[in-house]
Amino acid sequence: MALVVMKFGGTSVADMDRIRNVAAHVKREVDAGNHVAVVVSAMAGRTNELVSFVNDASATPDQREYDAVVSSGEQVTSGLLALTLQSMNVKARSWQGWQIPLKTDSAHGKARIAEIDGDVLRTSIQAGEVAVIAGFQGIADGNRISTLGRGGSDTSAVAIAAALGADLCDIYTDVDGVYTTDPRIVPKARRLEKVSYEEMLEMASLGAKVLQTRSVELAMTQNVRLAVRSSFDDPNAVPAVGKDGSSSVGTIVCSEDEIVEQQVVSGIAYAKDEAKVTLISVADKPGVAAGVFGPLAAANINVDMIVQNVSADGATTDMTFTVPEGDLAHALEVLEAHRDDLQYKDLIGTTDIVKVSIIGVGMRSHAGVAADMFRELASKGINILAISTSEIKISILIDAAYQELAVRTLHTHFGLDQTGA
Ligand code: ADP
Ligand code: ASP
Ligand code: MG
Repeated sequence: MALVVMKFGGTSVADMDRIRNVAAHVKREVDAGNHVAVVVSAMAGRTNELVSFVNDASATPDQREYDAVVSSGEQVTSGLLALTLQSMNVKARSWQGWQIPLKTDSAHGKARIAEIDGDVLRTSIQAGEVAVIAGFQGIADGNRISTLGRGGSDTSAVAIAAALGADLCDIYTDVDGVYTTDPRIVPKARRLEKVSYEEMLEMASLGAKVLQTRSVELAMTQNVRLAVRSSFDDPNAVPAVGKDGSSSVGTIVCSEDEIVEQQVVSGIAYAKDEAKVTLISVADKPGVAAGVFGPLAAANINVDMIVQNVSADGATTDMTFTVPEGDLAHALEVLEAHRDDLQYKDLIGTTDIVKVSIIGVGMRSHAGVAADMFRELASKGINILAISTSEIKISILIDAAYQELAVRTLHTHFGLDQTGA
């Protein structure tokens, strides 16, 4: 028999009917003789609601109490699913992060998993009990509840799969796999049979929220076999996972050499949660970039794309870069505080931008992909504000108004549209 981790996201456990549907998926695996650990998210919308309660209670919340509140949605769904399984004569119990224990560091609100003791869980599962685990949460130093950052149940699931040595980690969500781009934005998006860890990692970190970035990182380093599939499939019309952990349902995230036909571009992602900062007319001399980015780094603000234009006089330069949208106000404050040493003429911040990225391991061996991308965007009159690249991705920054046009244009241009669409 296989040991399978099944993870269900918010829309998959949104109400009691959806929880009964999840229980039927779990029962199918149990009936087939598989051992099962389930990881659940909170009901759809619940975590947002809890976050808004916290913000209502305090303008500067103590992050340990933030975690005590926002982790509670998963406690509810884990208990409800265990009860539902019991009522279907499936042996099950719920597990909170601290009961396992799933230990994390103390970065409350975005904690990283430090260690999972799989022993008690394993004993319970081997005794034939389904372990229903509250995702997103763990236990930090000082016995405080921690959470893993938004979307963190994916990471809980992969970490549990690694700790238990599971044969498969199946991520059930509201789409039936990983698509070439967000299928809710581009109806012509095509489902991928397989996607490599590297590409999935870029797609996730560049905006495709179907998997939390850390979950992919962890799956890659721990060699966890990962699949993305839909909880909206009829639980009794899809096959159970095979005894060797094999599954034919959904998209498999696997190593690159398992993928026979590799396209140059496999996917397109976009992210709206970045902001653009421009410093107008700073001196063009050694030390200026360090003077700008040093204080931002000290303030713990991550800078992503950077462009520097030499101005007509050759003595000054305009500098543009992006930061996470949530850090914009802070970044502007920091730069304002350094106005005297940096001696720029003006400082402008805007959130009206989007980052669009094309991703594909095939780019390693193909020249000219960037030129091709830029030409295609130019033909639609889309102006590029900044560019960044890695071996397997090219990202551009554009005005937010062009997001859909850019994604659809590139999707068609790089041959990703569904056949027949
Ligand atoms: P869950 O609550 O199950 O964790 P999420 O909302 O976090 O679900 O992730 C699923 C969503 O990810 C889908 O509804 C889809 O809109 C979005 N998404 C973005 N990019 C992609 C992509 N490339 N492939 C599939 N889904 C994507
Ligand atoms: N419930 C948490 C969130 O909404 C974790 C998750 O869904 O993965 O971010
Ligand atoms: Mg999610």
